[in-house]
Amino acid sequence: MIEIKKDMEVDDSHIICKQKTDETEKILDYDYKRCAGCTICIVLCPKKALQEGPLKEIATGLDAPPILIDIDECVFCGMCVNFCPVRAFKMTINENRPETTAEELAVKA
Ligand code: SF4
Ligand code: SF4
Repeated sequence: MIEIKKDMEVDDSHIICKQKTDETEKILDYDYKRCAGCTICIVLCPKKALQEGPLKEIATGLDAPPILIDIDECVFCGMCVNFCPVRAFKMTINENRPETTAEELAVKA
């Protein structure tokens, strides 16, 4: 059975979620300062791991994340990364950023 370890840390405006197995380390980095609070990611997340933060208070000046992440539910699928219109979510897998690799491949093709 594969052992999966998860943890979460906060670095300035970044909420950094990590999932580690013997073979892979995935890092989901949510920069809430970039987030526009559109809630697309909440709708798209297949595990319902995302929910709204205090959007009304944020609109009146509170410094808080518009999106809250339930790391226990998150399966690090990358849907939020792929569809966020302002790239507030980024993911690295074993230190490679998948979307960068895809762009590089497109340039080389
Ligand atoms: S899709 Fe992006 S901008 Fe919209 S709420 Fe989610 S993280 Fe924020
Ligand atoms: S990586 Fe997948 S499961 Fe995790 S919050 Fe994003 S969409 Fe949801």
